[in-house]
Amino acid sequence: MASTFPFARLRPLDGAVELAAATATAATSTRPEAVTALLCVLLDSVGDQPATRQAIRALPCATREWLVQWTAARLNPGLRWFEARCAHCREPFDLSLDLARPIWRAPDEALTEISVATSLGPRRFAVPTGEHEEQLALREPGADPRRDVASLCGLSPAADEEADRFDEHDLQLIDEALERASPDIADMAAARCPSCGRDTECCVDPLLFAFPREADILSEIHLIASAYGWDHDGILRLPARHRAAYAGMIARERRAQTSMARR
Ligand SMILES: [Zn+2]
Repeated sequence: MASTFPFARLRPLDGAVELAAATATAATSTRPEAVTALLCVLLDSVGDQPATRQAIRALPCATREWLVQWTAARLNPGLRWFEARCAHCREPFDLSLDLARPIWRAPDEALTEISVATSLGPRRFAVPTGEHEEQLALREPGADPRRDVASLCGLSPAADEEADRFDEHDLQLIDEALERASPDIADMAAARCPSCGRDTECCVDPLLFAFPREADILSEIHLIASAYGWDHDGILRLPARHRAAYAGMIARERRAQTSMARR
């Protein structure tokens, strides 16, 4: 359904936007906070709304992951190969993936709250969003992640205490109901490990490799400014591809000069 499928618009990407994204992400302490910071800076709009912090935090978790993959693919159009690690023998291997078309599945019924008939009576729960994800990442994890979610998303005034009293069947019902009301995204890739030959599942996190890093951008700025004498803001206005290309040419030229001088 086109109306419920996430769609977004990126801001025009120049060095200033990239540097702002890198700085905002570096200042966060948990992954969900980094996702919020990154999407707020890089996206102009999501659906028909401006990509404000509030709007990004209100999105379901899977929709945020979809946006991370989609944005990563737009920033790195040629990116296809990733290093994955086998879950059985722990050997690294190369995995080919197309991030440009992440698979997103609409929920059976898109709801923001669900009701579950628990052993304590009917209870309501909020369907987890980025805001819940951020809060969960700051909490000390309990023995059962389903209990943590029940306590965080429970809408009863005694949700914390009730989460401890839910039995196994309650936790299962709550988990299933939340899953049915949430969109889903394929962020695991199936592969056969070339080392041990067993089937393995790899989790792909574009946050670890697909977004600009503050140190890299600053080092490109330094290289271009010291070679051409251009000012900082002028360099930041260059499209990212051009900045990287200039920095690459200068670095190659300097390497050639150094090796000539050694002869
Ligand atoms: Zn293996």
